[in-house]
Amino acid sequence: MATPAKLLVLYTGGTIGMQMSADGLAPASGFEARMRAQQVEESPADLPNWIFRELLPLLDSANMSQTNWLAIRDAIVQAVETDGCDAVLVLHGTDTLAYSAAAMSFLLLGLNVPVVFTGSMQPAGVPDGDAWPNLFGALRALQQGVKPGVHLYFNGQMMHGARCAKLRSDAFDAFQVLERHREAEHANAIAPAISYRQARQPISLAVLPLYPGVQAEQVRALVVSGARGLLLECYGSGTGPAGDDAFIAALREAHEQGVVLAAISQCMQGHVQFGVYAAGSRLAQAGLVSCGGMTREAALGKLFALLGAGLTQAEVEHWLALDLCGEMRESA
Ligand code: ASP
Repeated sequence: MATPAKLLVLYTGGTIGMQMSADGLAPASGFEARMRAQQVEESPADLPNWIFRELLPLLDSANMSQTNWLAIRDAIVQAVETDGCDAVLVLHGTDTLAYSAAAMSFLLLGLNVPVVFTGSMQPAGVPDGDAWPNLFGALRALQQGVKPGVHLYFNGQMMHGARCAKLRSDAFDAFQVLERHREAEHANAIAPAISYRQARQPISLAVLPLYPGVQAEQVRALVVSGARGLLLECYGSGTGPAGDDAFIAALREAHEQGVVLAAISQCMQGHVQFGVYAAGSRLAQAGLVSCGGMTREAALGKLFALLGAGLTQAEVEHWLALDLCGEMRESA
């Protein structure tokens, strides 16, 4: 874990650099000058050398899409492979920060540098706000050495990029690592088809939380909408309305049409283990694949990285069930 020689600060927008507009806070350019001015107030000796890039258009991260994820991925890879950077700090809005960090964990598999995401709950310049502490805290951590892979730094904590979620909208400690079961088998190697060099295309994905009253028609509507991957947020250890024959038939039809059916638990500390209940086994028989203890953010990002790479349904199901970067297994 070396000290970075040249670090890219990639500014994508978010509250951290927002300024007041007639409609409320909106992303604003010119953040590099503000950061350089603030650095004089910090102790620059603990900070790495950095260059700065604004990724346009600057976004409120509520507008983040798969296309923007690919642009972030491209900017990071270019910084490393062309511009000689050996670490990256991504400034990003908090609303979808955990989604982007998770997606990047899979889009950058095999890229051997640390990539740290941060943002803030209040804009830079607010007295006693969290913007400068988060930003310079992340830079200091990088200077001390962070292991390769994607991380999220917030409120003094360095977290795994594919294990956290935004749990609070009104406090500085907005992000937490979800303590979920992690015992999946680790992939032996990162195949070229899933490495950071693999090109990806946006792909239609849908998320369906199960709830009492969910109907077969809702699954069919998502399939008709073109979804190639359907993330089902199951109950408890991976159950659902298995006694509803029409619902099970809709899942089976979706699977037969090539849709990847990925399952996570909607419990904060849950994981999917289909065999525990007959109601779970029936979901597995309909074609659902367990994503173990993955978060919604991680499962969605992983589905995108796999399906967006053009892999077949069987290939996607194979990689979904294996731990690729620590998203499903503690020791990775
Ligand atoms: N809506 C803002 C965003 O996600 C919130 C933030 O940055 O905290 O860009």
